[in-house]
Amino acid sequence: MIPFLDLKAPHVELRGEIDAAIDRVVSSGWYILGPEVDAFEAEYAAYCGASHCVGLANGLDALHLALRAMDVGPGDEVIVPSNTYIATWLAVSQCGATPVPVEPVEATYNIDPALIEAAITSRTKVILPVHLYGQPADMDPILAIARKHGLRVLEDAAQAHGARYKGRRIGSHGDVVAWSFYPGKNLGALGDGGAITTNDAKLADRIHVLRNYGSRVKYVNEVQGYNSRLDPIHAAVLRVKLKYLDEWNARRAALAVQYLQGLTGAGLVLPQVPAWADPAWHLFVVRNPQRDALQKHLTDAGVGSLIHYPIPPHKQQAYSERCWPTISFPIASRIADQILSLPMGPHLTEVQLRSVIEAVASWVPTCE
Ligand SMILES: *Cc1c(COP(=O)(O)O)cnc(C)c1O
Repeated sequence: MIPFLDLKAPHVELRGEIDAAIDRVVSSGWYILGPEVDAFEAEYAAYCGASHCVGLANGLDALHLALRAMDVGPGDEVIVPSNTYIATWLAVSQCGATPVPVEPVEATYNIDPALIEAAITSRTKVILPVHLYGQPADMDPILAIARKHGLRVLEDAAQAHGARYKGRRIGSHGDVVAWSFYPGKNLGALGDGGAITTNDAKLADRIHVLRNYGSRVKYVNEVQGYNSRLDPIHAAVLRVKLKYLDEWNARRAALAVQYLQGLTGAGLVLPQVPAWADPAWHLFVVRNPQRDALQKHLTDAGVGSLIHYPIPPHKQQAYSERCWPTISFPIASRIADQILSLPMGPHLTEVQLRSVIEAVASWVPTCE
């Protein structure tokens, strides 16, 4: 069996260092915020090339608190991709604001900057691109549109740790960048975790206060805040894993090159990487109209695969109150019907990768 992702492998590789980091927190008696979280924030901000990092409880909170800090509320609209994980939309809804979906470029799966302006209204406050599958969104046109219309830009970078746009790491292109350290991400904790990075000191400060009950000084509450703090035990583990992130991302990139070579001619649409992108290769996503048959073939061959994501947000019951016409967002719908994520991770071996390629090659689609 070749698993879709081996979550244990990175921790087995670094067992000694991770055990020591956990022990340091356990022995310190400091279990909420404190020096370990401060140190991770400084190290992650430096890694991302941002001036500030604020550690939070998870990626959804990172998006939500960033929107709150930008005063997004009822009546406001936020532009989101039509094909994203539902967290991107939920963060907007949690503010009482409305997610306004924009379709992606079909070749890159990222929001199409050419379609954004048509979605802007007098209520629009923020553009929220997602660096989906670890491929950076085309930030320059997005930032230009935001400047022209006086909008803020919040990036959902939950899948893009270490990715570069035009040579510069994701982390400070927009006003705020939201991160998740969910275990399966490129930089993952041993449970839930998240953060924001930004160059805007005022926004960083507001999120800092919001994450801790709206309090700067203990028992003095400036605003109605939240409890959304990165746990020190996760911060300590993330500090260890951050040192290996570039090496692990390089292994992902090497596997992606082999996939792209090995799967050429296999009848699948393969990931396309724009010249300006250095993806983090969070996922390796292929496409075929007979996706379900391909997935069954791989399962029978002992190869794990997943669909990211099978139901676009606008088709979820959670958003059924919006009463979309049935023809809404055909690109997101088509993508969801055809995509399949193959095994990808820093601990996937070359032998395993070759088996995946062979399993795909032995699949014969039925004639249509
Ligand atoms: C994982 C993910 C999130 C949410 O992160 P959590 O830490 O699970 O809350 C948000 N957006 C995208 C694109 C993600 O992949």
